[in-house]
Amino acid sequence: MPGIGPVSATRIAYYLLDRKREEGLSMVEAISTALKNVALCPQCHNYTDEENKLCALCESSKRKASKALCVVETPSDVVAIEASASFNGTYFVLHGHLSPLDGVGPNELHLNDLDDLIKKAEIEEVILATSHTVEGDVTASYIANMVKKHQIKVTRIATGVPLGGELGSVDGNTLALSLNYRRDM
Ligand SMILES: [Zn+2]
Repeated sequence: MPGIGPVSATRIAYYLLDRKREEGLSMVEAISTALKNVALCPQCHNYTDEENKLCALCESSKRKASKALCVVETPSDVVAIEASASFNGTYFVLHGHLSPLDGVGPNELHLNDLDDLIKKAEIEEVILATSHTVEGDVTASYIANMVKKHQIKVTRIATGVPLGGELGSVDGNTLALSLNYRRDM
């Protein structure tokens, strides 16, 4: 598990066995329910609780009316941006970044779905909020070129997010600033 090494894992296992069997069992149930039922929203590819159903953000008419689309790498980036309350448009979740050496290309990130969505939803601005890492920058450039073909404004989040940093590790205020000071691409 990310962030949990063998020592912590052993400690958690013994803690549940020794003192928290009830809680452990309800945790198992919650994980099992989530793993069985959580699906991907067919439009933005964020997690949603029902197969083939749009998520609440894609359903919201207020969100759609903003005509702004924010592209992020992970579902937790959506949570981080939502917590900063600095964006009122819709999202597209890539579930990764371009990484040819690992076999991750435009098809694996479903960039054709992003292309279709931009046209279908009559998006007026695409904000690229991928991480400020080499892969995140390469991914942003690739998508920027794709979006520009449709004569749509493309911006990239700027100051505040540290180089090499991931969005999930940034506090809400910093993230709000970086969205406000986004730049044209
Ligand atoms: Zn959605």
